[in-house]
Amino acid sequence: METTMQGLVFHAARDVRVEEVPTPTLVEATDAILRIDKASICGSDLHPYTGRMDAEDGFTMGHEYMGTVVEAGASVQQFEVGDRALGSFFACCGACWLCRRGEFSKCLGAQVFGLGMAFGDLGGTQTEYARIPMADLTLRKIPDDVTDEQALFVGDILTTAYDAVRKTDLRSGDVVAVVGAGPVGLFAMMSALALGAAQVVVIDKVASRLALASSLGAIAVNADEADAQDVILELTDWRGADVVVDAVGHESALKAAMPLLRMGGHLTIPGVYMDDEFEFPIGELWIHNTTIHMGVANIQAHVDEVLALVRAGRIDPTALITHRLPLEQAAQGYELFASREALKVVLEPGATR
Ligand SMILES: [Zn+2]
Ligand SMILES: [Zn+2]
Repeated sequence: METTMQGLVFHAARDVRVEEVPTPTLVEATDAILRIDKASICGSDLHPYTGRMDAEDGFTMGHEYMGTVVEAGASVQQFEVGDRALGSFFACCGACWLCRRGEFSKCLGAQVFGLGMAFGDLGGTQTEYARIPMADLTLRKIPDDVTDEQALFVGDILTTAYDAVRKTDLRSGDVVAVVGAGPVGLFAMMSALALGAAQVVVIDKVASRLALASSLGAIAVNADEADAQDVILELTDWRGADVVVDAVGHESALKAAMPLLRMGGHLTIPGVYMDDEFEFPIGELWIHNTTIHMGVANIQAHVDEVLALVRAGRIDPTALITHRLPLEQAAQGYELFASREALKVVLEPGATR
């Protein structure tokens, strides 16, 4: 391997550039080096990109990826050089109290790839190679009958959406409402159907995203044209949705989500809230016996279930891909994604390899 490689480097909000950076090497015996075959741009990458989150100048970005193992540390048992693998967006220790409890995303030593110092200072994956700590726990082998693109979102956005639905009390035949038809919302919809929901109502204002939701089996509601609450009440004999997903992460989405729930319903929030503070109708939620779930998805705990569903053809993640670009054009990919022109952008470091 060359000592330098191409990688997307964060400099400042709206200033990301593909540059020559050092190629990562094994540090711990539990590490693997992955040649990145495909990477994508996640909604969380937009937090530093748009300036919503402060980040320092100079780290490589990206945490949604798949690739091929090119080096494995002496303690790595599950992987050999040449194995295709997908990986979680974060690495965890596997040994602390929270890891032993199965709460991997809250590991005391968790490090997120490509989000800078505040998230553990781990290199990104919008690069030609990445160092993967705790490879046996962070990575999963990709079966031969699963393509690179089918595997790409399993370690992040798809399992994030699946995790949000799975931790509710969803039962076969339930009605689910999803606020927001971005990638998380669309994957939450697909997950709810795979987990047994009878009907999933997806609410957004972007016509192209609603058309895609509809083609994937949802009842699509354009919030500018119809009242989502009326649609759901009619579907449920005036009961309300059993599960409501806030796939946006904004006060307005949460306020739109709450009236859709039935008594005793579950509200689940994969949408990201950071420093937000606003009024919250706790009395109403209390009297309605609402259960609320939120927080960082527990990828390592649920990734195998999602990979099995993808392999069986129950979820087709490639339906969301709108753009494929060589890594060199990553900055253009960010512009397309931030402006909502793109739904999922796939970056290919190997395009010129
Ligand atoms: Zn992400
Ligand atoms: Zn841990």
